[in-house]
Amino acid sequence: MARNKFNVDEELEAPFNWQQFKRAFVYVKRYKGMVAGMFCISIVTILLGLLSPKIQQWVIDRFIPDKNIALIVTFGVCYLLVQIGIILLNRFRSKISIRVGQSIVTDMRTDIYEHLQKLGFDYYDSRPHGKILTRVINYVNSVADFLANGFINAILEFLNMFFILFFMLATSPKLTLVILAGLPVFIVYIIITKPKQRRFRQKRANKQSNTTAYLAENINGAKVTQAFSREEMNEGIYDGLLGETRKYYLRAVYLGHGMWPMSAIIMRGVQMAIYLTGVFVFIDDFISPDGIFQLGMITAMVQYSNRFWGPIQRLGNIYNQLLDTMAYLERIFQVLDEPVSVDDAPNATDLPDINGEVKFDNVLFEYEKGVPVLRHVSFDVAAGESIALVGPTGAGKSTIINLLSRFYNVTEGAVLIDGHDLNDVTLKSLRKQMGVMLQDSFIFSGTIMDNIRYGRLDATDEECIAAAKAVHADEFIRHMEKGYFTETRERGDGLSAGQKQLINFARTLLSDPRILILDEATSSIDTNTEQLVQEGIAALLKGRTSFIVAHRLSTIKNCDRIMYIEAGRIAESGSHAELMASKGLYYKLYMSQLNQLRDIAEQAV
Ligand code: ADP
Repeated sequence: MARNKFNVDEELEAPFNWQQFKRAFVYVKRYKGMVAGMFCISIVTILLGLLSPKIQQWVIDRFIPDKNIALIVTFGVCYLLVQIGIILLNRFRSKISIRVGQSIVTDMRTDIYEHLQKLGFDYYDSRPHGKILTRVINYVNSVADFLANGFINAILEFLNMFFILFFMLATSPKLTLVILAGLPVFIVYIIITKPKQRRFRQKRANKQSNTTAYLAENINGAKVTQAFSREEMNEGIYDGLLGETRKYYLRAVYLGHGMWPMSAIIMRGVQMAIYLTGVFVFIDDFISPDGIFQLGMITAMVQYSNRFWGPIQRLGNIYNQLLDTMAYLERIFQVLDEPVSVDDAPNATDLPDINGEVKFDNVLFEYEKGVPVLRHVSFDVAAGESIALVGPTGAGKSTIINLLSRFYNVTEGAVLIDGHDLNDVTLKSLRKQMGVMLQDSFIFSGTIMDNIRYGRLDATDEECIAAAKAVHADEFIRHMEKGYFTETRERGDGLSAGQKQLINFARTLLSDPRILILDEATSSIDTNTEQLVQEGIAALLKGRTSFIVAHRLSTIKNCDRIMYIEAGRIAESGSHAELMASKGLYYKLYMSQLNQLRDIAEQAV
């Protein structure tokens, strides 16, 4: 099944996997000092919180009947100080928890980003980019929040329950039993609904991820959408995806929220039971030795009972968070565990400075297992030679140039540069010496100068300008508002296709690669820029081995050798003159393009 589509759900996970948590705690451990601090502060606040009902009990049962104003005031002040202490400590804890959470977010994102940088083209070929973004942004946020807070809160809530239980037992063991009687009903509800909740939450995560993937695809393709007037249709698709997300969100939340009324009903029932049993059944327990009915004791029990249900409800929420975290962690680790298909071999060595000889030795290549795209391709290229790759679309030209920079590993055979098998050298040392310009002349946000300097950060402004001059880009750049310091927009919006190409040429020339790979853009550019681009290409080729997936006759003719690729094989190879003389496939291609140009020229006259 195609995985790289926005509306294909990611696979559902195996049941609970605690191993994921063990792994995730590596991130928490780095901040164990702060986490321990949060923990201690929380215990203090819990204990302080539990003192309050006791203070009230003493005031109601002892100091008010005794009319002991001094003690009433003293305990009143104590009560106030305890409340302020709780507020301040909670604020301090939340500051620490935000810091820990954000540190975990940063660490996880750094790890994922570093790994994503290493993953080969095949990974990106098979996944919508929006789904990758969802993992790095949304999932990491949720997971970090749970690791920084949810987990500690869970322990604290259990402790909280334990402390409350202790205080309740100390106050009235019989009423404690009344309070605990409500618990089994609640536990049964959780056991029944939880599997469903987990499923709904996973579904919701999938649908959310689909929505983001579609959004990301549409932002990238916004111009095409408008050009084909697909706005309404796309809105429909997006609405559909949002609807699905909403459906599962509501199902998960409704089911989760069912717990609140359930616990609230039990809580109120228990309260009533405390008053009723306290007054009618266990009345003797609440009469003091001097015969006074101790209402404060019952009030304290009601308060403890409310507090006892609070942690239970919150633990329910934490459990929901835990379910989400499980699903998200699984996906985050899936990214981190994704094997790097194109990586340095364990004994890889740096490729020494090369002359630029290239050899394809019986190369077989498959993107997908069992579907060969290149079949037994062999050729030798001398240093400094320029090769034009021509042939029908889908023949395998781009694949050949992708293998040259080892963006993919060959399935069989070998690619050698200066006699070094690419599988035996480090990727960095290889790619440093290659200049790759793909069809989409990518422009980054920044200035034109930044863009030229992209591949050689230590280049001076003068060197950047010299490179631009050499590829004939200088003139148009100088005419721009701020010349070399004009801000470019991401993807180079605002620049023409030819101008983007020229900036790319300057960038590549500056990095001075020994081997140059150029996927010539098919998009037509105005004749003036076309002339500049041709001259730019000529400047680039000088003294380098070059491979050009060429579409323009002028570029093709100027190359030393032409390889005609058809169905993953080299069908013809030779100079322009040789191939024209043999009147084969290249001859046909050349003549048909020439005729097209003639027709255009005649129509123009
Ligand atoms: P050309 O550059 O000659 O137009 P390509 O080298 O791009 O051809 O493609 C050769 C074949 O490989 C085509 O059939 C194409 O569909 C397939 N192909 C190209 N890229 C991929 C990919 N990333 N995953 C799967 N198949 C691919």
